[in-house]
Amino acid sequence: MFQDLDGLVYDNAFRFDAPKPEDWALVFQGDAVLASLRDGCLTLPQIGGLGKAGESSSSYPFSFRYAFTLGSERYFLTDGGGAVSPESLISSREYRNLGPKQTVFACAVGESLHRWYQANRFCGRCGADMRDSETERARVCPDCGLTLYPKICPAVIVAVTDGDRLLLTKYQGRAFKRYALVAGFNEIGESIEDTVRREVREETGLHVKNLRFYKSQPWVFTDSLLMGFYCDLDGSDQITLQTDELSEGGWFHRAELPADHSAISLTGEMIERFRTGKEPR
Ligand SMILES: [Zn+2]
Repeated sequence: MFQDLDGLVYDNAFRFDAPKPEDWALVFQGDAVLASLRDGCLTLPQIGGLGKAGESSSSYPFSFRYAFTLGSERYFLTDGGGAVSPESLISSREYRNLGPKQTVFACAVGESLHRWYQANRFCGRCGADMRDSETERARVCPDCGLTLYPKICPAVIVAVTDGDRLLLTKYQGRAFKRYALVAGFNEIGESIEDTVRREVREETGLHVKNLRFYKSQPWVFTDSLLMGFYCDLDGSDQITLQTDELSEGGWFHRAELPADHSAISLTGEMIERFRTGKEPR
């Protein structure tokens, strides 16, 4: 999965650090990052290479904001100081499938943070300018005191199994064309187990039991935390598809499951686990 960094430590403790020329710059425009491709390798600009970008500015887009450290490398969010031309921008859909993993992870996490800062410039309750908290990763309203933390939406990925069969679906009207598992967001007041049962029921009309938590994945591309569950079919295997969301849904035997899954997603790993008989039981 894209967040598996082969032992590299992701240190996201909140602090105010000043940038140095050798640190990495995370510059975003929409869902695209300022980067170059060298031999298929995603390469970020270093702060020292950004020209006048370090000159201060009091409002967002800011000059530099410390984001996190990966191993011994530090990453800063910045507006790029005019260094951004359209041909040097690489979209999230493109970069997420490139390497090296460390840079892809930094871009994806940085993009989610960037989106959150951009969306929380003003207080949603009273309209005042928000400020950064001085003690934690939060935006604070100086007028009414509203405090906002980074947006993370819990969601489920569900592998519904029936013996040697797995339920696969395809989304309606999305760029993603591969087979997927049942998925959906947690709603207010609902346990994550209830989300699993509701999403399966809504999307396919099926009932499930014996929920087994597998792994979670910070799917920062949509500001989500995915929680992967395997579960067993309970009762009828007749699928009633929710056609406004799904275009296809069906049962697949282990032996007929496709093996070309996304290597970066929890969905891909969960399908592969089932295909090779290694799912939790
Ligand atoms: Zn306010």
